[in-house]
Amino acid sequence: MRLKDFIGQRFYFLEIIKLANMKNGVYSFLCKCACGNTSVCKYNNLREGKTKSCGCGISKNVVKKSAYTDEIIKRSIAREGSCYIWLGPRDKQGDAFIYNLSMKKIYILEYLYRKQVLPIKGYCAFKSNCGNNRCIKPDHHYVTFSEPKESI
Ligand SMILES: [Zn+2]
Ligand SMILES: [Zn+2]
Repeated sequence: MRLKDFIGQRFYFLEIIKLANMKNGVYSFLCKCACGNTSVCKYNNLREGKTKSCGCGISKNVVKKSAYTDEIIKRSIAREGSCYIWLGPRDKQGDAFIYNLSMKKIYILEYLYRKQVLPIKGYCAFKSNCGNNRCIKPDHHYVTFSEPKESI
């Protein structure tokens, strides 16, 4: 990834503004927190969900777990035409995800699809029909595979 690709990435309540320093291959960025403060954060900590705010504990104000997840998702989406562009973390396969308050990995497309389109269960895979591979809008995708899972 080139340096300019990091700028504007969002992790929970933080948005990357610019490179602060690079020591022993570890990038640290100046980030703007949703509370208005800025702080310098290590990229790995941002990516792994260890650093979520400037330290103001803003996440504690979002009491309900589902409200927290929705809030984070909302903050990590930018509109581009009719598409929703994901600005937050992605895994090695390129799938957009976040960790919820219980540190459970939530895949964004799956989560939004279940919520807004169809309450499918189990593992599912999606393909986009708008051609924008950064888009995570549920209506711009169709399910190519779904596997029923036993409910726990
Ligand atoms: Zn803050
Ligand atoms: Zn789209």
